[in-house]
Amino acid sequence: MNFLTPGPSQLYFTVEHHLKHALKEDVCAISHRSKAFQQIIAHTISQIRLLMNVPQDYYIVFTASATEIWERIIQNLVAENSFHLVNGSFSQKFHETAVLLKKQAYKQEVALGQGFEMADLQIPASTELLCLTQNETSTGVSMPLSDIYELRKLHPDKLITVDMVSSAPYPDLDFTQIDSAFFSVQKCFGLPAGLGVWILNEKCLEKSMAIEKSGKSTGTYHKISTLVKNIKNNETPETPNMLGIYLLGKVCEDMNKRGIKTIRNETNYKSVLMYHTIQQSENFKVFVENEKFRSKTVIVADVVKEKASFFINKFKEHNITVGSGYGAGKETQIRIANFPTHSKETFELLADLMK
Ligand SMILES: *Cc1c(COP(=O)(O)O)cnc(C)c1O
Repeated sequence: MNFLTPGPSQLYFTVEHHLKHALKEDVCAISHRSKAFQQIIAHTISQIRLLMNVPQDYYIVFTASATEIWERIIQNLVAENSFHLVNGSFSQKFHETAVLLKKQAYKQEVALGQGFEMADLQIPASTELLCLTQNETSTGVSMPLSDIYELRKLHPDKLITVDMVSSAPYPDLDFTQIDSAFFSVQKCFGLPAGLGVWILNEKCLEKSMAIEKSGKSTGTYHKISTLVKNIKNNETPETPNMLGIYLLGKVCEDMNKRGIKTIRNETNYKSVLMYHTIQQSENFKVFVENEKFRSKTVIVADVVKEKASFFINKFKEHNITVGSGYGAGKETQIRIANFPTHSKETFELLADLMK
């Protein structure tokens, strides 16, 4: 079965091979404090850095998942005030995390399927952290990188964090324009779930140390100061998902061999094909009206006549599983993941079926 679901998704096609190799090399049995494992961590970090062009002075650390990173970000980068751009379920949950942690969490909301016009944003001067969801997985709305850079220009004094869980490594993000970004591995990287990757700069470390100094808690084993202290030694505070870290390094290495440019070009090709197919079809309609906000990696379509489940079951007969709509859209939408492991051939087959 080909899983074109937006996470978990189809495993990257080399994972089976690396999994066998991991067992042979006892990756799950060696000590997480051993030289051998430190080398695995160093390899994974260097491959992520290369693939996503992460500057040398940005830290790359590991957590359990992106949901955990939401919590760590709020604990470590916000003393009082955060600001959230909310346009779907994931950006909403990020905001809720800040509310639950008792911060003054302001949000600006737009309707589902819409993106943000930077000129309309009203960001209080007291904001310490801007929380952006670059690719809102529930609605297929993405934020143009130029808008992120514009926010940086307008707010040079505030920290900016970018949820790129369901788009990385596709966006060619200039990390010097932001302070922190993060993803989980079960989306575009095509890996088993249970590992989050958090990229952050020195300003984030300084901010969290200042909050600690003020007497506030920034958390325990996964506060930034502890994560950074450990990663400088290619270690993690806890016994981490060693297999996940190993596999991520191997898959990033494979993607680097294929070339990030090639991966981006293929992603573009498949997304053009899919949006075109949806536009031509009587049964489907593109959900995100404004082209500039249409996600390349999570494509959402309204199902016009039948229930979404009718088409989902039809495609399954041809070994393709697409995602259902998210939340309220469950019966009326389909979501198609366009990740690096999804082949052109699979997309061409799906396009034929949709016609
Ligand atoms: C999936 C997802 C998350 C949560 O990731 P987990 O691995 O489930 O913690 C957060 N943000 C976005 C945009 C997502 O798509």
